[in-house]
Amino acid sequence: MAAEELAAIDAAAIERWIRAFAAAIAEHEQELTRLDSAIGDADHGANMNRGLKAVLAKLDEGSATGPAALLKQTGMTLVSTVGGASGPLYGTFFLRMATAIGDAETVDQKLFAAALRAGVDGVVARGKAEAGDKTMYDALAPAVDALDAALGGENPAGALQAAADAAAAGRDATIPMLARKGRASYLGERSIGHQDPGATSATLLLQAAADALA
Ligand code: ADP
Ligand code: MG
Repeated sequence: MAAEELAAIDAAAIERWIRAFAAAIAEHEQELTRLDSAIGDADHGANMNRGLKAVLAKLDEGSATGPAALLKQTGMTLVSTVGGASGPLYGTFFLRMATAIGDAETVDQKLFAAALRAGVDGVVARGKAEAGDKTMYDALAPAVDALDAALGGENPAGALQAAADAAAAGRDATIPMLARKGRASYLGERSIGHQDPGATSATLLLQAAADALA
């Protein structure tokens, strides 16, 4: 399939993505809490669900129009409603994506990939995580790399699913890691053998993109 045949991502598609992420977080709230109870303080599911519920309420108001405005509203809402480490990190992710998209009315997959990378760079600027620290970055980083590789490859239409699959592999790879950032790092060696909650929610974000935007 030629690049120009790829679906362009408009405001309605961005809204579908955010709503799909919110639905996935609601569905997986207990799982995220269970994971965070093993190596954190058992609030990741509640934190994220509270934030995404507020995001849905904003979407229902319908005041934000355009891809960047929707992403900015989402980021601001997450920063102000999600406590803990993950609120500012996910908030920054969406705010940086919004800035990268600017006033584009429709976003082709190349711009979407660039915006996603800008979002992930924002997570790093904020949290200073490196690969292998056992954080959401360990799911996000392989996903943006896989997206770029797939867009330049033979199956660009499958690029978002390739990104989601890479996120899932990155999430699974956090299990044997020793946590070096966030609350889990306080556990030292005892953090080994547990899947990182933030890498798990980040994989839901990427799978929602594959489902809603493909
Ligand atoms: P808190 O740790 O404050 O209770 P949450 O439980 O909502 O916040 O989120 C925990 C998740 O945040 C972790 O699983 C990890 O993926 C992510 N995280 C924590 N610190 C960082 C960081 N510095 N950089 C990237 N991600 C981080
Ligand atoms: Mg927590």
